[in-house]
Amino acid sequence: MTGNGAREVLAIRYCTRATNRAENYLNQHLYGEPNTDIQMDYYFWVIRDGARTTLVDTGFSPAAGDRRRRAWWTTPADALPTVGIDPASVDAIVVSHAHWDHTGNLHQFPQAQIVISQAEYDFWTSPMARRSQFVTHAEADEIAYLQRADAERRLTLITGQHTLAGDVELIEVGGHTPGQLVVSVPTATGTVVLASDAVHFYEEVERDRPFAIVTDLPAMYRAYDLLAGLAARPGTSLVAGHDPLVRTRFAQHPAGPDVTDLTAPAKASPAPATGSP
Ligand SMILES: [Zn+2]
Repeated sequence: MTGNGAREVLAIRYCTRATNRAENYLNQHLYGEPNTDIQMDYYFWVIRDGARTTLVDTGFSPAAGDRRRRAWWTTPADALPTVGIDPASVDAIVVSHAHWDHTGNLHQFPQAQIVISQAEYDFWTSPMARRSQFVTHAEADEIAYLQRADAERRLTLITGQHTLAGDVELIEVGGHTPGQLVVSVPTATGTVVLASDAVHFYEEVERDRPFAIVTDLPAMYRAYDLLAGLAARPGTSLVAGHDPLVRTRFAQHPAGPDVTDLTAPAKASPAPATGSP
């Protein structure tokens, strides 16, 4: 029923930042490894089905990015035309979780239905979200935007598992935040699993290294197990939420180096010439 042949799944990088392991891996000192520098990239994701477009997250807003001293270069409304998508065609936005670098720019799509987990929405609209260890990760005006969208009946609140149009599957995993979602997208060439911040860096899953920002550590470990299991299925690829490796594991889109085609593996580098003709 889905006609996935034309479906595109893109990661669009809009910011990058130099950081280090100790800032990103929980209790890095436990591993007895040097605190080396690493790079954190910031993305939002696009699922395009012909004339319909679903966004997964919307990056951070320019104002919040500037205030938090992040070097950003685009927003969804500016980036979509560069890949041939009219922002007005965005009819659904999945908010994987309500951290500030995922909920900015929702106002660019006033016609879109917003999908978020009930647990995530309930948490960020509760008094607990104003405690110091949580409040720093959200923007109050963006949580207020979600509340207005709810009042306007533009919010779909889901629990557990939920299927969107075109068999796009949302799975609530929690861990990083109370209602963190991952998004499984069937395509003509296989299934693309957008982990968003259930997995910031591939190392979290591949070396069992939890991320530093966590609300429920056992749930985070269970999410790693779930995603490792999905990634082991034939034809399934895992897309980490903040990892520069995304741009080397998948193919570059013709639009430029900051756009990655998640339905295609990276092209192998040409074999070295061996002499004959
Ligand atoms: Zn994030």
